[in-house]
Amino acid sequence: QIAEWKKLRDEPTVSADGKHVELAANIGTPNDVTGVIENGGEGVGLYRTEFLYMGRDKLPSEEIQYNAYKTVLENMQGKPVVVRTLDIGGDKELPYLELPKEMNPFLGYRAIRLCLDRQDIFRTQLRALLRASAHGDLRIMFPMIATLGEFRAARDLLLEEKTKLREEGKEVSDSIQLGIMVEIPSTAVLADQFAKEVDFFSIGTNDLIQYTMAADRMNEQVAYLYQPYNPAILRLVKIVIDAAHAEGKWTGMCGEMAGDATAIPLLLGLGLDEFSMSATSILPARSQISKLSAADMKEMAAQALQLGTAEEVAALVQSRVN
Ligand code: PEP
Ligand code: MG
Repeated sequence: QIAEWKKLRDEPTVSADGKHVELAANIGTPNDVTGVIENGGEGVGLYRTEFLYMGRDKLPSEEIQYNAYKTVLENMQGKPVVVRTLDIGGDKELPYLELPKEMNPFLGYRAIRLCLDRQDIFRTQLRALLRASAHGDLRIMFPMIATLGEFRAARDLLLEEKTKLREEGKEVSDSIQLGIMVEIPSTAVLADQFAKEVDFFSIGTNDLIQYTMAADRMNEQVAYLYQPYNPAILRLVKIVIDAAHAEGKWTGMCGEMAGDATAIPLLLGLGLDEFSMSATSILPARSQISKLSAADMKEMAAQALQLGTAEEVAALVQSRVN
């Protein structure tokens, strides 16, 4: 099996009936890029920038960030790199950043909410990203977007910094795709409106499941509610993919679900364009997809959407895919 996976390393990802999808990797630091290349990743689908901010005693400067982003872009050799802006708060804290004590941190002051409030922090990151864009195929996405207003506010800050950098004579790419993570149900439901303004979606199922099922992703006692195959989740995923396609945009997924062997056939059937996962899952996923018929999976996914429980969906997949 390992020999078979190795052969697929430099191959595109194509289903048995010829449908092409992209398999990308989730990374946390520039060092992770080696693993992405070794495992045949077609891009980076999620660069979690939190690690740049963690493990130090003050905010990372624009220069430190610029160097990290540039390194990732250069080492990915022109392949797409989706960088997520800072997603701090929730369960992730920074020693040097005083965050409010909250009753429900996962429903509180985190990610884009914090960044729109602390523009000093956000603008520094945006400037570093914009400067790095000259070195590869940079795509930027905002985490935890709940409203169109938040997206527009974040986009406007990005555009302001872009204008400033150009006035300073700095080089900035003209073709940076700008997207959002879909990890809050309001945004999934309203995806048709978002699709008119973003270049792409990336579905963050780790949070989307937690918020849809109202079950803390860290809480063992309610872990039984953490159901990727629940038809409610599948329907939200479908809404997002269809909304993107209606506007000629693409949809990826960067939550754990994207690398899950039971979910992959369903996601292929729902029309997901890009799957982003841990690097070591890429070759097994490419092998799995090469043996699936996208047309059959489309029909299976349509059936799954009409089922009532996650267990029924899992059983359907088991009966159709081996
Ligand atoms: C997600 O929520 O699915 C996601 C990819 O983001 P994180 O796990 O970093 O919250
Ligand atoms: Mg998330």
